[in-house]
Amino acid sequence: MSSDLHSALLTWYQRHQRRLPWRGEPDPYRVLLSEVLLQQTRVEQAIPYYHRFLQRFPTLEALAQAEQEAVLQVWQGCGYYTRARNLHRLAQQVVAAGGVLPQSARGLRALPGIGPYTAAAVASIAFGEPAAAVDGNVRRVLSRLLAWEHPTPKQVQEAADALLSALVQQKDARPGDWNQALMELGATVCTPQNPGCGGCPVAAFCQGKASPAHYPASRVRKQKSLELVALVLQGPEGVYLEQRQGPVLGGLWGVPMEEGPGALERLLARFGLDSAELVGPVRHEFTHRKLHIRVYRAPWVAGENPVRRPLSRLDQKILALAGASPTQPV
Ligand code: SF4
Repeated sequence: MSSDLHSALLTWYQRHQRRLPWRGEPDPYRVLLSEVLLQQTRVEQAIPYYHRFLQRFPTLEALAQAEQEAVLQVWQGCGYYTRARNLHRLAQQVVAAGGVLPQSARGLRALPGIGPYTAAAVASIAFGEPAAAVDGNVRRVLSRLLAWEHPTPKQVQEAADALLSALVQQKDARPGDWNQALMELGATVCTPQNPGCGGCPVAAFCQGKASPAHYPASRVRKQKSLELVALVLQGPEGVYLEQRQGPVLGGLWGVPMEEGPGALERLLARFGLDSAELVGPVRHEFTHRKLHIRVYRAPWVAGENPVRRPLSRLDQKILALAGASPTQPV
């Protein structure tokens, strides 16, 4: 059955894969960039960033030589900025060691920001290593094929490894195509809602097709709620911005913000102000955090034009609410 399943999926992939700018790309740096972008960004949103990034940093060397702020500026709006900071560190590390990306999943995993999925995807697509890449799409497809409701990550990885090892016994096996075919099936046919089982190339092998919505059972995502206060200090030239620290928005610029009880008082004290005008609330969600932000505004002595700095979407929302749009000179 296994070789029939392989050929059914690979034939479908050859005919129906989406034309994406990184498909068939021989340059490992470009493959790596596409995989890092796709870690947390949908394909349609990733495409313009892929082009933008390569236009500015066409090679690993060019990326290594850039300032972190320039890298974040190009990534601006794409979210999950840790990816950009890690990619930058990765480039610097690889260039310092001779400029050649490791060709194995194991070697790639030692680099900043490269987890098991990205390492396997890049090693298989760019270097042909038989390493099974398991992302959310692959997990869903395999859980449905095997009618698994609560598979552990280990079980899914082992199933993916077994399928790939069976493939590499065959002549002219291309592990990168296989990984991409599974992901493509999950992204376009075996979708989370309303999977297209009627037109699915592997329906004959699927044990879960009678009730695909059961497989895998959905995982409950816990989101923490945070109460924050943001202070937009507006000067004649623009707004006061500071560089954020920490894992979420570190390296980006934004307006001063504080969390929890007494947040406004602490902000006012920090800038020697008696009061500030409340302009409204902003809500913003990250994967594990839901932010409720009260935005205040006050006059200030100096500031700068926010278009010159890499800002997160969150800070763009805050500035827009306070009438200091980041897309307009202020
Ligand atoms: S038959 Fe349906 S559930 Fe099974 S792999 Fe295909 S799309 Fe997914």
